[in-house]
Amino acid sequence: MTNKKGNIGVTTENIFPIIKKFLYSDHEIFLRELVSNAVDASQKLKTLSISGEFKGEADKLKVQVILDKDKKTLTIRDNGIGMTADEVEKYINQIAFSSAGDFLDKYKDAENAIIGHFGLGFYSSFMVSEKVEIHTKSYKDDAKAVKWECKGDPEYKMSEIEKEERGTDVILFIDKDSEEFLEKYRIQELLNKYCKFLPVEIAFGKKTSWKDGKEEETDEDNIVNNPTPIWKQKPADLKEEDYNSFYRELYPTNFDSPLFNIHLNVDYPFNLTGVLYFPKIKSNLEINRNKIQLYSNQVFVTDSVEGIVPEFLTLLHGVLDSPDIPLNVSRSYLQSDSNVKKISSHITKKVADRLFEIFKDNREDFEKKWDDLKLFITYGMISDEKFYERAEKFALLKNTDKKFFTFEEYQKQIEENQKDKNNNLIYLYATNAEDQYSFIKAAKDKSYDVLLLDGQLDMHYINTLESKFKDSRFLRVDSDTVDNLIQKEEKIESVLSEKAQENVKWAFQGIVPEDKSFWVTSDSMRPEDMPVIIARDEFMRRMKDMSELSGGTSYYRELPDDYKVIVNTNHPIIVDLSEKIEKKTASKRSKLDEQFEQINKEKEQLDEKLKKFEKDEDKPAEDKTKLEELESEIMKLEEEKIEVYKDFGKKQKIVSQLFDLALLSNNLLKGESLSNFVSRSVELLKK
Ligand code: ADP
Repeated sequence: MTNKKGNIGVTTENIFPIIKKFLYSDHEIFLRELVSNAVDASQKLKTLSISGEFKGEADKLKVQVILDKDKKTLTIRDNGIGMTADEVEKYINQIAFSSAGDFLDKYKDAENAIIGHFGLGFYSSFMVSEKVEIHTKSYKDDAKAVKWECKGDPEYKMSEIEKEERGTDVILFIDKDSEEFLEKYRIQELLNKYCKFLPVEIAFGKKTSWKDGKEEETDEDNIVNNPTPIWKQKPADLKEEDYNSFYRELYPTNFDSPLFNIHLNVDYPFNLTGVLYFPKIKSNLEINRNKIQLYSNQVFVTDSVEGIVPEFLTLLHGVLDSPDIPLNVSRSYLQSDSNVKKISSHITKKVADRLFEIFKDNREDFEKKWDDLKLFITYGMISDEKFYERAEKFALLKNTDKKFFTFEEYQKQIEENQKDKNNNLIYLYATNAEDQYSFIKAAKDKSYDVLLLDGQLDMHYINTLESKFKDSRFLRVDSDTVDNLIQKEEKIESVLSEKAQENVKWAFQGIVPEDKSFWVTSDSMRPEDMPVIIARDEFMRRMKDMSELSGGTSYYRELPDDYKVIVNTNHPIIVDLSEKIEKKTASKRSKLDEQFEQINKEKEQLDEKLKKFEKDEDKPAEDKTKLEELESEIMKLEEEKIEVYKDFGKKQKIVSQLFDLALLSNNLLKGESLSNFVSRSVELLKK
């Protein structure tokens, strides 16, 4: 070959400035591109050796990364197939650039473009170099070694050189702006990030050892990668231990062991291998994200896999490796790619199958792990219809006695006892076993079962379950009195008259705080139930909780807390209280009653008189005004009467005491009110 000069086959005027600018944020990937080219060249040689086409020695294949700080060069050396002059001409001068041109045309606007296997690979070296040389010698018997050099413009030089060994050296003369890539630690970091699992040994420098208090280089190559990562091995050859130690290799700073793993191995209709781990997820979804690493033929591509797998699967850890995922496109494109969709639904299925398998094989173990798995499974069920259908078989419900049930088992468990008069099955749940203890106890006393749904996502989960379970409703135990939670046909007779019940209610209304909306009602419960109960309406509470979860402002969030104060008018203390009320307010009331009767009489007479007129406009105006006056007086009297009851309530310590006790059992009595309660209790005990 005679020395040669020429122009690289570029269609774009000058592509180098574009490469630099376009890929600015991703400069560091040049090393990934060059090392994987070297790895490819080594593997090709191995293939040729296996097929018998290459007869020489092909065992000691190795890629070397060599840093020379003085000369300001970084060399990527391999002993793979090498290139003949013709091949350099064809692969470096022509092909590479035509496809680079295509790429740039196509994805000019794709902001998140990931540069990958589209032929720009080798040329990415110009992002960090002022000059690049290739010294290469093909494996072919009579091949001559070639040197190619280019200074980052469309001009290149080629010449014949002396080179003993087969293979290729790519020598980068690092430019001024990129001197970080002359730092050992930086190269080590990049190799660790992108090349950790490449399939051919990669050496960077020598191993060191400590001698006489000094660190010295040994003769042994420092191999930076693990060429046979676990996901490329056969599951049958692997033990639990191997998976666990690979987990530590992937996440050296994560000290938790995974719960279990899934080894993926698909070759049709797409190619996918990988190992996914279930981490313990106790809380904080965010911290657990972005741990899955995506590889393409063992080359690291990214560790943000959103769009490639369903969102809930991003909670898993591990690696996915697929040459079928297009890497050189934007995320929005990824989401609509049909291969990506297939891969993603395959992974979902595999994950569900594995969970079911563990559930079936060892239910006890599955239950033990449930608390750590729960967040993942519920997230999946809420967000992915397909996953829900699969998970129905193994998702567990845990009750306040820490017993586990499948959906089917639980339905059987409560079917007999917890149907209301409309034949709805009522699922009772608590969100805090301590705070809601008195309600849980009341429910259990009626032989109801109470679920514990205290997880981060349970609010949403309940909505999902409610939409899936037929004729069923979820009610938090403290949302009403135990009899009202599950309304049955039979109703307990009230000891007090309707009027007396009303008056008791007003007495309590007199002492409930006005800032929060406490709303007093009465109910004839069993005498042995609590005298006063405070409940929070299920619907309102859920709406509020949901809008709090979703952040921002909303109608429900703005509303004050809504507590229902239910007075048990059959409780002996309340019955006593009622008698006292009627007695003690009698004199004040009788005055008001007299006035009331008088005004009412007047009003009745006037009503009678005005009845005669058919049309409103025919009625005498003065009578109409009089009637309005009477009506408003009646209203005033009624209000005054209510005030009498309220006043009574305020003066009776027992009323405040009962209300505070109800607050206390809901964990709502705090600060000054709590201190008042304590002093009042002492006073009452003194008597
Ligand atoms: P790609 O690797 O995507 O094909 P590149 O621009 O990185 O694109 O490389 C173009 C071609 O140059 C490769 O396909 C290969 O044939 C050849 N090549 C690059 N690096 C080497 C190497 N180290 N040894 C042998 N051939 C190489």
